[in-house]
Amino acid sequence: MDTKVILTEKEMPTSWYNILPDLPQPLPPLLHPGTKEPTRLPPPLFPEALNEQEFSTERYIEIPEEVQEIYKLWRPTPLNRAYRLEKALDTPARIYYKYEGVSPAGSHKPNTAVAQAYYVKKEGFKRISTETGAGQWGSALAMGCMFFGLECKVYMVKVSYYQKPYRRSMMETWGAKVVPSPGEDTEIGRRILAEDPDSPGSLGIAISEAVEDAFAHDDTKYSLGSVLNHVLLHQTIAGQEAKKQLEKIDAYPDIIVGCIGGGSNFSGVFFPFVKDKIEGRRPDLQVICVEPEACPSVTKGPYTWDYGDVAGLAPIVKMYTLGHTFIPPKIHAGGLRYHGMAPIICHLHHLGLIDCRAEHQIPVFKSAVVFARAEGIIPAPEPAHAIKVVIDEALKCKQSGEKKNILLALSGHGHFDMGAYDEYFSGRLEDYEYPKEKVEEALTHLPKV
Ligand SMILES: *Cc1c(COP(=O)(O)O)cnc(C)c1O
Repeated sequence: MDTKVILTEKEMPTSWYNILPDLPQPLPPLLHPGTKEPTRLPPPLFPEALNEQEFSTERYIEIPEEVQEIYKLWRPTPLNRAYRLEKALDTPARIYYKYEGVSPAGSHKPNTAVAQAYYVKKEGFKRISTETGAGQWGSALAMGCMFFGLECKVYMVKVSYYQKPYRRSMMETWGAKVVPSPGEDTEIGRRILAEDPDSPGSLGIAISEAVEDAFAHDDTKYSLGSVLNHVLLHQTIAGQEAKKQLEKIDAYPDIIVGCIGGGSNFSGVFFPFVKDKIEGRRPDLQVICVEPEACPSVTKGPYTWDYGDVAGLAPIVKMYTLGHTFIPPKIHAGGLRYHGMAPIICHLHHLGLIDCRAEHQIPVFKSAVVFARAEGIIPAPEPAHAIKVVIDEALKCKQSGEKKNILLALSGHGHFDMGAYDEYFSGRLEDYEYPKEKVEEALTHLPKV
């Protein structure tokens, strides 16, 4: 086979795949944080179309023409056979990777950013507010807003604002307004600054600022880059493409591996395949989610009801959680830091349809370097977690002689993460296992449902 399997623009899927109607048991509802009754997403924050998609029972949802046109700037994305990595590992396994790093923002995130901006515009709103940590989501949304002539206001966690100036410049190039969070533009920002003028900020604070902004402006909607059902839905363009690409070479994965932060990129890749497992066509398909040992929500957290956000204002969801009061350890380099996980991923894991593993960051970076030296691509630290497991599985095949097909979801490149590589090379990176006692302490703050 050739190294790349290419789809033409005409072969790009024209619908997103909605897994909700195919789940063997219905997904638990979202609960209102006040009444604890089933609820929708807060309507002032989200456009109607996205609120409908969040709970839709339609299996395929058409991708609007305007969104398809923008997707075509970088889609369909390549599916590669990792011949050189296979050789380096001396494995009989066949390794494939679906690469989303070819998007202008360098990751899978524009797949949903462009769609969300489209619906906000279509429903007559003028602005979107959002938060960003390291800047990957902020830059994807800045680009999405630009394509539809929307204003984009990004509350960027203050430490990252100063440590990652080039992500900020990227957002500004696409026309977004970026401010450090906490900042003077919101009441909550002003309050935090009054108490602690040197506050480094946190994702939780930035979310609160972006939400306050959207509530305060009638022309503004808020946007999230992961976790929610509609975000996972928009990412399924990648898995549907990958399935078509593998069909072209008569292949089907035995194992699919991806990283999970909030769960969106990997869901997008494996949902169309896990459908075959749910329907009994591929009972042996193995799906492996990979999370960091430093933020092990699925592997260490209980499956229970918790707030979606730090402030306890967002809906309560049933998920594996480290508690909404979870604070990610500073020494951790990757962006996989959410205290919970996408409800659909948790549900599938609870039903035994998918597996999850946690990995330490030093072996993760070691694997990233093996990959970069074989395939050229420098992976982002997040998908490097998945690469660690792909290499483990490929080496198991070497032991057993099995010729398994392994599909890797390679969500983005690491060109803005060279600081983390630098720490790895200089030996400053540390492994950190999130302590069980901390999980137990945090769980005393769970909402009573
Ligand atoms: C944001 C990000 C992730 C983690 O988010 P998910 O919603 O779990 O996909 C993973 N990889 C890259 C490259 C990212 O930018």
